[in-house]
Amino acid sequence: MPDSLAIRLLDWYDQHGRHDLPWQLNPTPYRVWISEIMLQQTQVTTVIPYYQRFMSSFPDVKTLADATQDQVLAHWSGLGYYARARNLHKTAQIIQQQHKLRFPESQEDLEALPGIGRSTAGAIRALAHKQYAVILDGNVKRVLCRHDAVPGWPGKSAVAKGLWQVAEDYTPKQRVDDYTQAIMDLGATLCTRTKPRCDDCPLQTTCVAKAQGNPSAYPEKKPPKKKPQREETMLLMVNEERQWLMQRRPEKGIWGGLWSFPVLEQDIVLEVYLAARGLKAQSQKALPPLTHQFSHFGLTIKPLEVRVSTTRVQEQHDGSSQWVSLPQGLPGGVPAPITRLIEQLKPATTT
Ligand code: SF4
Repeated sequence: MPDSLAIRLLDWYDQHGRHDLPWQLNPTPYRVWISEIMLQQTQVTTVIPYYQRFMSSFPDVKTLADATQDQVLAHWSGLGYYARARNLHKTAQIIQQQHKLRFPESQEDLEALPGIGRSTAGAIRALAHKQYAVILDGNVKRVLCRHDAVPGWPGKSAVAKGLWQVAEDYTPKQRVDDYTQAIMDLGATLCTRTKPRCDDCPLQTTCVAKAQGNPSAYPEKKPPKKKPQREETMLLMVNEERQWLMQRRPEKGIWGGLWSFPVLEQDIVLEVYLAARGLKAQSQKALPPLTHQFSHFGLTIKPLEVRVSTTRVQEQHDGSSQWVSLPQGLPGGVPAPITRLIEQLKPATTT
């Protein structure tokens, strides 16, 4: 059975798989790694332009390691899950300093690097080094859960353990790079989350979920838990020269290292906040709130535009707080909700 699954999958891949994705051309460990990290939680069509831009600025480990974090995050703006970009940068620096710019080849050495888990390490070994290795990313989990009708939520360690075993049993010793790409492609193109196209699938004759008539019941969803909701007042302070005060967020916490507007802490009165920075409000206007869902909580941002009468506020010596013209003067990467806010400001900056 395992062999027959691989054979059918490889036959299908030869005819219908994707063979010309940018990272498939010249699949070096570096290029495969960047693509695998970008593809986590993100669709191929979204990733392609980001990948191409990233590769043209950082074509190898050295250029990435030598870049600033701001430069790397600026190339990630809009992709979300920014810890991925910070980890890419850290990992490139580790490969430069500890591995003399040679990409590690063993599962253990790869998994020791920030942001590289078991599946990503397996993908790099299989796709770039052509070693026997097993992957279990979101697409592969979905295919295997359905094909074998694996019960339980894959986020539970006992379910995940069983799935890794299933993945290992099906992975062939030959053409492991093609098999890896094939099973990812099947999950991305036919065995999709909401409308699996079972009638076109090479695995349909052995797929248990198809036989049961309920592929969409697999993989089981995470048991529901109400997400906590938070609210933040964000200060969009603009001075007389039409510059806006922006701050780099601390490394730890949401949007670490990205640029945003300052947040007014709940127990601080606006006038006191401004006075402490040598500023005085001339006028203020509440803008429509916007919401953003993180994986573990929901955030409502209440933007407050405040025209201030002086630029005397101290810019931080480390450059983490700056008056900038928007949108052209952005000093680094910006999270998507802040980009939306900046777009709302555009008319004000051009009058
Ligand atoms: S037969 Fe349907 S559910 Fe089963 S693996 Fe193929 S597309 Fe997925």
